Amino acid sequence: MSPESAVPADSEIVLNHGMPTAARVYDVMLDGKDNFEIDRQVAEASLHVMPELKEIAQHNRAILHRAVRLLAAERGITQFLDLGSGLPTARNTHEVAQEVNPDAKVIYVDIDPIVLAHGRALLEDNENTRVVTADLRKPVEVLQHPDVLALIDFDKPVCVMLCGILHHLADDEDPKGIVETLRDAVAPGSYFFITNFTRLSDSRESEKLEQVLLSQLGTGRVRTPAELAAYFDGLEILPPGIVPLPLWRADQVITDATTIGVRFMTGGVGRKP
Ligand code: SAM
Repeated sequence: MSPESAVPADSEIVLNHGMPTAARVYDVMLDGKDNFEIDRQVAEASLHVMPELKEIAQHNRAILHRAVRLLAAERGITQFLDLGSGLPTARNTHEVAQEVNPDAKVIYVDIDPIVLAHGRALLEDNENTRVVTADLRKPVEVLQHPDVLALIDFDKPVCVMLCGILHHLADDEDPKGIVETLRDAVAPGSYFFITNFTRLSDSRESEKLEQVLLSQLGTGRVRTPAELAAYFDGLEILPPGIVPLPLWRADQVITDATTIGVRFMTGGVGRKP
């Protein structure tokens, strides 16, 4: 894209075009237009080791839509905290939630200021949705951010969305501890929706991808099913459990569940009792 034309002018927003970012590389995977040559190079190297990544990104968006719809329509959730929300794309969290309940509140949080730049333009007329630039590695700061507190009432249940973000935190940044901090802060009856890269025990592709992402993007840890399950500690996991994304309350038939495209990301929803 042309940075000058595509990103709204905003004196607070400084975009670094010289370094790839997770938000923009993911945008490439979703065939978006909000990315730069440096992001496309990382995407190309990643697709070289795992050609299914575009399909996987689509599965990740599709489970997000199913989970948000379920929680808004069947579990009475009216507040969504979408952490590591990424660039606006086709059907965002607020569109799905507010289709069910126009009063649903949605906060998008992302470390990448490009998300705020695009989100502001998209959400100009939506008083129930805000975009916040903040770092999930400082979860207390996220929870206490004035824009978060302006919309979210933490005395009431909230859906905390950690969709495709925890693998961007390094082991020494303590992703499990961050989830626990969030879990302890939210009201009983809150939900956690989590999806993640998952180590494949029977193939080398997941490790190869991790090497490409860590060396070229600086983040992208592929974790074991046991590590992912631990994020749900203290939560009641909704059926069908923590499973490959297309198998979670699928709305279409998956004819072959053995492919890397189906299995590389897993996820689920847990409820705080
Ligand atoms: N949640 C969206 C989805 O699943 O479709 C986007 C996922 S995208 C792969 C991961 C996002 O997490 C990126 O937009 C990236 O900027 C954001 N991110 C990475 N580290 C973060 C951090 N420490 N705090 C907040 N956001 C972060």
